[in-house]
Amino acid sequence: RAQAMPAYLSGLNPEQSDAVQTLDGPVLVLAGAGTGKTRVLTSRIAHILSTGRARPAEILSVTFTNKAAREMKLRLGQMLGQAVEGMPWLGTFHSIGGRILRYHAELVQLTSNFTVLDTDDQIRLLKQLLAADNIDDKRWPARMLAGLIDGWKNRGLTPSQVPAGEAAMFGNGRGGKLYAAYQERLKVLNAADFGDLLLEDIRLFREHPDVLRQYQQRFKYILVDEYQDTNVAQYLWLRLLAQAPSSTSPRLRGESLPPGYDPGVGLRSNPGEGAPQQIADSQEPETPPHPTPLPASGEREQAVPTSPPPKNICCVGDDDQSIYGWRGAEVDNILRFDHDFPGAKIIRLERNYRSTGHILAAASHLIAHNEGRLGKTLRTEDVDGEKVTVTGSWDSEEEARAIGEEIEQLQRDGHKLNDIAILVRASFQMREFEDRFVTLGLPYRVIGGPRFYERAEIRDALAYLRVINSPADDLAFERIVNVPKRGLGDATVQLLHDHARKRKIPLTEAARAIVDSDELKPKARGSLRDLMTSFDRWRMQRDVKTHTELAEIVLDESGYTEMWQKDRSADAAGRLENLKELVRSMEEFENLQGFLEHISLVMDREGGADEDAVSVMTLHSAKGLEFDNVFLPGWEEGLFPHQRALDEQGRAGLEEERRLAHVGITRARKRAKLYFASNRRIHGTWNTTLPSRFLDELPADHVEITESKGGSGWGGAGGYGSSRFDNMESFGSSYTTPGWQRAQAERARNNRGGGGNNGGFSEEQSPFSSSRNESDSFAKK
Ligand code: ATP
Ligand code: MG
Repeated sequence: RAQAMPAYLSGLNPEQSDAVQTLDGPVLVLAGAGTGKTRVLTSRIAHILSTGRARPAEILSVTFTNKAAREMKLRLGQMLGQAVEGMPWLGTFHSIGGRILRYHAELVQLTSNFTVLDTDDQIRLLKQLLAADNIDDKRWPARMLAGLIDGWKNRGLTPSQVPAGEAAMFGNGRGGKLYAAYQERLKVLNAADFGDLLLEDIRLFREHPDVLRQYQQRFKYILVDEYQDTNVAQYLWLRLLAQAPSSTSPRLRGESLPPGYDPGVGLRSNPGEGAPQQIADSQEPETPPHPTPLPASGEREQAVPTSPPPKNICCVGDDDQSIYGWRGAEVDNILRFDHDFPGAKIIRLERNYRSTGHILAAASHLIAHNEGRLGKTLRTEDVDGEKVTVTGSWDSEEEARAIGEEIEQLQRDGHKLNDIAILVRASFQMREFEDRFVTLGLPYRVIGGPRFYERAEIRDALAYLRVINSPADDLAFERIVNVPKRGLGDATVQLLHDHARKRKIPLTEAARAIVDSDELKPKARGSLRDLMTSFDRWRMQRDVKTHTELAEIVLDESGYTEMWQKDRSADAAGRLENLKELVRSMEEFENLQGFLEHISLVMDREGGADEDAVSVMTLHSAKGLEFDNVFLPGWEEGLFPHQRALDEQGRAGLEEERRLAHVGITRARKRAKLYFASNRRIHGTWNTTLPSRFLDELPADHVEITESKGGSGWGGAGGYGSSRFDNMESFGSSYTTPGWQRAQAERARNNRGGGGNNGGFSEEQSPFSSSRNESDSFAKK
């Protein structure tokens, strides 16, 4: 009793403390934004470690981004007063899934140095398959197939499990076959795509229960952040690992989806850009229920003779922050937690520690417009602070200028740029800010945005390194076989392909096989031989030189650097700098393999981490983060909510947009500033836009309307001529006028609740309706 409370426990409120200290059995923390869910998870790890319940390597801890994983490690070190040595299983689903896959690659027909393909590689490979099958790429684009395959993978479906109706949706019924061919081809190339990092784990676990058991025994504690955004594949993966190890079970309980689990209910097409691009944006169709035959529940229970002790799994999440439905996330996963993990303790946290009163009130009021939600109380003991501001401007350029000025003002008032973020709905919005910041000389970083590693010259350089690392990496080989030009054009590549396909071997092997034959013209033959000799030499140097030296040698000897040195285009100099930067960035890694691994996984890289800079990112990437000052531009109909959500039948898309808006506002600690422009150029054409309905849904008492300082603000300018704008104007003159609500009522009269141009919401049942009952069960606890 007299013992001093460890630092990581002091300061927690009773509910948080309960969540941290309930180490045995399943725990779900279901709570709103800023209530300390992530802090609870971190404290929990600290508690587990400092009480000696488990070693770092025995804790599986899943975060949503790599950045979040790094942050958690950092906090953990602070809490424990010392850096944590190793936490190998703290990371994203993909990074941990990939790690497991590498250990057992042979069991799923890969070798441990397999390549992780990005979307670009994926598309290239699919194009080849379509060509080989004589499928018209115009009618049936490879990108569409990539989307379908990703969608299937997100739902944990292998080629044989794809419902016939869905397989029929591509290439006159050949969708499923192409998926199978794609998987087969990946194996030949010794490659995996992002979806495979989990799906192949699941297959591995199913086919090798001994391997699964090994992990079940290893992971004494499992923790998952942002549980509301897990998809079916992640759910299955987690369930398998969260089963108590059982040597007697012939049929593992986590093997298939439980009865009543209906994946795909909430799936819709991607309503916009902006997610961390780990998985290609999928064009997901409405889907029928899961086709896998499920064993009767009695049978399932019999398979596990003695009920094993419940696994120590702790998930935290917030149904109001589920924003990845378009990518296959199932908010149902969080709503059925106590069903999946019987005896789960459910803890609610109600005090928000992040935001001031006005901000929290605005966010809560907005999200209350959603019907499909559990509903929860949130309170703050913080001051009311500044009201949320809404600023209109003439166009997006003026908007960027206004925000630039406000940021400079904040800077003059002593704020750090690190405490400032701009959160956009769609990534194209970023350019305007980037331009503005360059003009102003304001340092900024783009998080999760157009990435350094995606630049063409970087991809080329990486392709060389990939081929050295894994000779079977055909996509990389094809990318650079004739870059710089060395007389190995399309005809040669076609010849290599024919050989490779016939004999089911990688291109580099095919190259070796035909390099001495007379199938090739003498010049090509000489070139190809030189290239193969170079690769052999580089591969040998790999063992004696450091990987950074190797990279320099390769860029030099391949003629790649020289190619850009001779290039006269305006951006050649920048590309050469980027190549230098690439070699510099490799120094942080132990070896080539480690570096390539990093490239394939780190999708949310920040710019110079220690520089004081404004953060610019999409709303999707902002999940879990917080900033003193948050700027939210582009709150216009068609942009936010996004047009694709408005075009959709039913209200699921619109409600997801609203959750995104809620996520945006709740990132702010002290200031949330919303903007809309009356004119915006979207993909090259100017559009006259209306303020977002979400602005109308904010509570007038907590919001202040301001005018853009740019001069030609919306308040003064005429000619908008829309009834919607008239609504805005009527209360725009004074925020005390309850015009927000009036506008809303009016629109409700006009089209039954604010639908887009599809004429409002349909009568369709909410995908959340089934979960209503579960909300009762939460309430009872
Ligand atoms: P989100 O839903 O946005 O992910 P969250 O529930 O994970 O939010 P955290 O990020 O863990 O919330 O916490 C929000 C902020 O509140 C953080 O700055 C955190 O340090 C602070 N905080 C949490 N709990 C406490 C507490 N008991 N005392 C003081 N500050 C706290
Ligand atoms: Mg969090």
